[in-house]
Amino acid sequence: MEINDTYAAIATAMSPGSISIIRISGSHSFSIIQSIFRPKNQERFRQMESHTIHYGHILKKDGSVLDEVMVVLMKGPKTFTAEDTVEIDCHGGVLVTKNVLERVIEAGARPAQPGEFTKHAFLNGRIDLSQAEAVMDIIQAKNEYALSSSLQQLSGSVLTKINQMRDEMLDAIAFIEACLDDPEHLSIEGYTNRLWQKVLSMQNELDTMIQNAKDGILLKEGIKTVILGKPNAGKSSLMNLILGKERAIVTDIEGTTRDLLSEQIQIGGIGFEFVDTAGIHPTHDLVEKIGVQRSLEQANQADLILFVIDSSLPLDENDQEILSLIQDKKVILIYNKTDLPPMISIEEIKNTFSISNILEMSAKNGFGLENFKKLLLSLFANQNMKMNDEVVITNVRHKNALIQARNRLEDVKKSIENGISEDFLTIDLTDAYQYLGMITGQIIEDDVANRIFEKFCMGK
Ligand code: GDP
Repeated sequence: MEINDTYAAIATAMSPGSISIIRISGSHSFSIIQSIFRPKNQERFRQMESHTIHYGHILKKDGSVLDEVMVVLMKGPKTFTAEDTVEIDCHGGVLVTKNVLERVIEAGARPAQPGEFTKHAFLNGRIDLSQAEAVMDIIQAKNEYALSSSLQQLSGSVLTKINQMRDEMLDAIAFIEACLDDPEHLSIEGYTNRLWQKVLSMQNELDTMIQNAKDGILLKEGIKTVILGKPNAGKSSLMNLILGKERAIVTDIEGTTRDLLSEQIQIGGIGFEFVDTAGIHPTHDLVEKIGVQRSLEQANQADLILFVIDSSLPLDENDQEILSLIQDKKVILIYNKTDLPPMISIEEIKNTFSISNILEMSAKNGFGLENFKKLLLSLFANQNMKMNDEVVITNVRHKNALIQARNRLEDVKKSIENGISEDFLTIDLTDAYQYLGMITGQIIEDDVANRIFEKFCMGK
């Protein structure tokens, strides 16, 4: 027997641990658990009270014990999916966990699709789409900023903000339509001027959100920081110093970092992805050439460049070439090897390169590391956006919808300026209203929703 509306999955990671959780959701969850579970306290279990936990054993088909477990019974709608849900806490071995899941499936549940629990929470109206996306972001958060902004989004901050703006748009649409339907009682006279002002203020609000979203997405995803410099300038040593471990290979032989090394770390709650590159210099070695090419590609995608200069050597054409590659980028120039006698002064560097952020460091003995971290944070964390007290969009899909809505509002303003008939205004206003609705999922096509949930992990 297959019961289509009841699905199950392992909700915990598939590696040995002390406990694993198998989750079952759907209208037959309770009857399935009844058929495979032998509770210690039969009487209490038989009452099937919601939000209770029961000790006992999952039994194989032949009645023998499969595992010793705790079973949590939760009746809908007060569950994550809003459906009847059962969770089985079993022993955390990979094999035993799989066996329990298989037993649940044998008893009639079907294997869940990735993200299906969250998808049902959305479809059953428990959470909106922005909150569903926040659930995934919380799981994947690699830094404190990503975590706190996702938690805020899960609490409904984006939903509330977007709904406020949609309400305003709906009021305007409703008023115009009412006037057009009933011109004898309702006059639209003078309304378009007020609407123009209203649209402008909505647009300003959207502009701020779009602007903050750029920073929000950057901080959430992690700031891609690429280390560039000629061979032997100390790039790998700097990477190791920042990461606090021996990760990149440090040698005196030019071209030892032929491929890219990349590591994520958190500094002051913000995520950084540091990429160590092959030294940029002319070379005939094919493998090295590929390395240099890759470094250039990385430099192009970087949010920040650390340009490492060896202060114990005179500047050469390699340094000049690197400078020409990073003109439009945010750069920190690392004046490295300050523990050695200098061959070039900071003043000369300042005169040669028009880079304002210059930092004296020794990647060998750690001099300058604290200043480096302070500078990094001042470049990113002190921007206009505050970290917690306003709604910051950190999702590219949301940002794109905001831009579309903003553009439709621009069309409304232009139509008002050109004296175009009022019924056209409602068309663009309705479009803007719908674009905002895509963020929360009130207006969403099935395939878009499916694509979002496919990216979720199994059991979530
Ligand atoms: P890369 O080719 O730019 O990655 O340079 P490496 O990090 O491999 O360093 C090249 C050489 O310079 C190694 O022998 C390092 O020990 C040395 N080195 C790196 N930074 C410093 C520094 O600040 N001071 C001194 N004295 N040597 C350094």
